[in-house]
Amino acid sequence: MSVRVGVVGGGQLARMMIAPAVELGIDLRVLAEQDGMAAALAATAVGDYREVETVLAFARDVDVVTFDHEHVPQPVLRALVDAGVAVHPGPDALQYAQDKLRMRARLDELGMPQPDWAAVSDVDGLQQFIEAHGGAAVVKTPRGGYDGKGVRVVRAGTEAADWFTALAEDANPGALLVEELVPFRRELAQQVARAPRGEMVAYPVVETVQRDGVCAEALAPAPHASARLVEVAREIGEAIAEGLGVTGMLAVELFETEDERILVNELAMRPHNSGHWSQDGAVTGQFEQHLRAVLDLPLGAPDPRHPWSVMVNILGGPAEGEVTDRLPAALAEHPGVKVHTYGKAPRPGRKVGHVTATGADLDDVCYDARAVAAHFA
Ligand code: ADP
Repeated sequence: MSVRVGVVGGGQLARMMIAPAVELGIDLRVLAEQDGMAAALAATAVGDYREVETVLAFARDVDVVTFDHEHVPQPVLRALVDAGVAVHPGPDALQYAQDKLRMRARLDELGMPQPDWAAVSDVDGLQQFIEAHGGAAVVKTPRGGYDGKGVRVVRAGTEAADWFTALAEDANPGALLVEELVPFRRELAQQVARAPRGEMVAYPVVETVQRDGVCAEALAPAPHASARLVEVAREIGEAIAEGLGVTGMLAVELFETEDERILVNELAMRPHNSGHWSQDGAVTGQFEQHLRAVLDLPLGAPDPRHPWSVMVNILGGPAEGEVTDRLPAALAEHPGVKVHTYGKAPRPGRKVGHVTATGADLDDVCYDARAVAAHFA
């Protein structure tokens, strides 16, 4: 009987595990939030990932449980582990991807380079931090943020008053995370795959370009990166994967400063938008690698197949009709560019697909990827 992997969450990351699962002969099951989601092509159950009984019932029929997102509550994760289910990444690691305050505290313990940060529980505390850091700071809700939601640049403590009010109404009032506003030169992402038995492989560090808090493009490997920067990014990725006991794919989002220092922004313990290029541009794509890692199979080579790969997200999609309506024109634009669509309805700002171009000349590769992606606007 084939190996069964259960993915909690039915979004595009689960969807993109389907093709490599088919290739390897892995039976992929998905627990989706609702019918008709991006991953509905796999054997799909529908249920609430916050309910212990629902997730336990889903886990009964699989060999390992993994995730499309980081929102499964700790008590549900612990119940799975207590029931003897193999969960990768496990709750001990996932807590640091679920809570940015915990992540900052733990990364300090591991000696990782980070922006200056603090936990603040009121407007006055935030104001003090801002004044001590040149008059501006970045406030973040520790839990539940994504794509820039839950991140605010502020110049006065009062600018986060609504968040502090919401915090005070919480059953377990916590704190907000505040960080120095890093004057970064660019953003990078380092991915590492780690198997339960400890084997690790690192992908080349990539440059990510964000617009309005959302990843718009990824350039692999990061252009103009010195050998030292590449090495430091890899060391940080591996130290975090090992230090936190991550299993599966880990993405470490990084800031590169003008003086070529690297600071950790945040973590994702699953395949990540910054690694989509690897499907078409690396020997082993991140979705296959994630399956290999959570199943404790030997990991695949992460090496690029081409000098450059550029991934451009399709954000929003066409104003009228479906994303796939645009395929004929997009595919005709360039026969070497790969298009991935997620089966999602167009909506402003929504990630509905991406394209990846590869080649030997970075300018040409960027041009090709953007030209094909433009057909979906
Ligand atoms: P999310 O969880 O929503 O992805 P992030 O913590 O990654 O939130 O922040 C989103 C974006 O906000 C980052 O990609 C970066 O562009 C900007 N940002 C976040 N923290 C800082 C910081 N300390 N200094 C400067 N910019 C930041």
